[in-house]
Amino acid sequence: MDGTFNENDLSRVVEADRAHIWHHLIQHKPFETNDPRIIVEGKGMRVWDQKGKEHLDAVSGGVWTVNVGYGRESICKAVYDQLMKLCYFANTAGSIPGSIFAEMLIDKMPGMSRVYYTNSGSEANEKAFKLVRQIAHKRYGGKKTKILYRDRDYHGSTLATMSAGGQDERTAQYGPFAPDFVRVPHCMEYRKHELDGAPEENFGVWAADQIEEIILREGPDTVGALCLEPVTAGGGVIEAPEGYWQRVQEICKKYDVLLHIDEVVCGVGRTGTWFGYQQYGIKPDFVTMAKGVASGYAAIACMVTTEEVFDMFKDDAADPMSYFRDISTFGGCTAGPAAAVENMRIIQDENLLQNCTDMGDRMLGNLQALMEKHKVIGDVRGKGLFLGAELVADRATKEPMDEKRVQAVVADCMAQGVIIGATNRSIPSRNNTLCFSPALIATADDIDQITDAVDGALGRVFG
Ligand code: PLP
Repeated sequence: MDGTFNENDLSRVVEADRAHIWHHLIQHKPFETNDPRIIVEGKGMRVWDQKGKEHLDAVSGGVWTVNVGYGRESICKAVYDQLMKLCYFANTAGSIPGSIFAEMLIDKMPGMSRVYYTNSGSEANEKAFKLVRQIAHKRYGGKKTKILYRDRDYHGSTLATMSAGGQDERTAQYGPFAPDFVRVPHCMEYRKHELDGAPEENFGVWAADQIEEIILREGPDTVGALCLEPVTAGGGVIEAPEGYWQRVQEICKKYDVLLHIDEVVCGVGRTGTWFGYQQYGIKPDFVTMAKGVASGYAAIACMVTTEEVFDMFKDDAADPMSYFRDISTFGGCTAGPAAAVENMRIIQDENLLQNCTDMGDRMLGNLQALMEKHKVIGDVRGKGLFLGAELVADRATKEPMDEKRVQAVVADCMAQGVIIGATNRSIPSRNNTLCFSPALIATADDIDQITDAVDGALGRVFG
C-alpha cells in the first residue's frame, strides 16, 4: 500500500480502513469478518456506501450533525471563496466571516453577547468550565469552583468534560477525573421510579429541588455553575418535565450559580427553535454549541456568553492575570464561520425551523402509532426532529430491552436502507432507546419511510 491509490478504487479504501483506521466509539472485532462501512457520497437526506447502496439517513451523519442535509453547493462555495481569500489567522485577530456569523448568532440569542470560537463541542464546554473556575478565583477568593452536572447528560470526550459525564459507560476506566464536578440526579419522568423518593405528581419540580439539596449539601459558597443539556441526547433523548426549568432558574439565581446550557446537539434548529433552551424560557449564562452550527461542512463550535460575564474579564491594571488566557488554534479557521453563515441563511430562507416542528410532530405521531402496535415500545419522546423510542422487555416493570435486540432493530433498518441510532451501550438500563434525528429538510415521505422501516424491523425482531 503506497498511498497512491485512486479514490475510485473502493476495495483498496476498505483495505486501508481495515488496516489503519481507528474508528470512533465502536468495537473493531466485527471488522475481522465484515467490511467496515465507508460512506462515499451524500445528497439531501441520503448517503451511499462503498457498495453503492443508498441509505436514508435518519440520524444526520450519525450524531445529530448535518442539519441542512448533504451536498449543499452554496455552503461549499462560501467555504471555497473564503479559503481562497484567507484560510486562517489566529483569533487574536478578527476575521470577516467570524464577525458576520457572531452578529447573526447573537441576533438569535437575546441576552447573549460574546462568541468564542473553538472546534469541538467538548472544547466549547471546557472553555465555559475554565471561565467558571477563573470567576471563582477572581470574585470568590478561590471558592465556588464546583460545577454541577446531571446524570445521563454528556458534555464531551476530554478529561474535564468526562469529569462532568453523566453516562458511566463513557467514563469507566478513564479516571481519575478533575476534582469539583458534582453529579445531580436525572429528570427523566419515564424512569423516575429509579430515583428514591420521586413523587407521582410534580416530578419536574422535585427533580429540580434535588439540585438545590445538593447545592446546600456542598455549600452554596462552593458551587459556581450548573451544566445541563436542554434535551438530553445520547443519555436517552430526555425532555425535562413540566416545572423543571423554571425551578432550575430560580435555584441558580438564589445561590448565584451560573447556568451553562450545552446546546451541542440541540443548537441551531434541531428542536424547532434556534436553540433548545428557547423552548423553555431559560436565561443561560453560557451556551455551547457545535454539531449543527455548520452542519458538518466545516469544524466549528462556539462558547457564547453574556456581556456581564465578559465584563469580568476586561483588563485590570492591578491584575495581569485578569483576562481569559486561553486560545484554540483552529478556532481561527475561517472555513467554520463561513460555512456557519451560509448554514444559518439556509435554515432561515427555507423556513427549516417550521419544517422541523411540522415533521417532528408527524414523526412523533407515527412513533406513537407504532407504540400502539408494538408493546416493546415503552415510551416515545423528544422535541422537533430530535426523537427517541425506548424499548422495554416489559411495559409494566419498564425493564429495559436487551441491548442485542435493540441493535438487531438498528441492523434491520440498515438492511432496509434506513440509518437510525440507539443510545449509548454498555450499561444495560441505558442502551435501549432508538434515536431519530433526520435533517431539518426531511419531507413527509422521508419521515414515513423511516417509521415504516422501524415498524418492519420491530415486527421481524420481536415477532
Ligand atoms: N455535548 C453534547 C450534548 C454532545 O452530545 C456531544 C457529542 O456528542 C458533545 C458535547 C461533545 O462534542 P464533540 O464530540 O464535538 O467534542
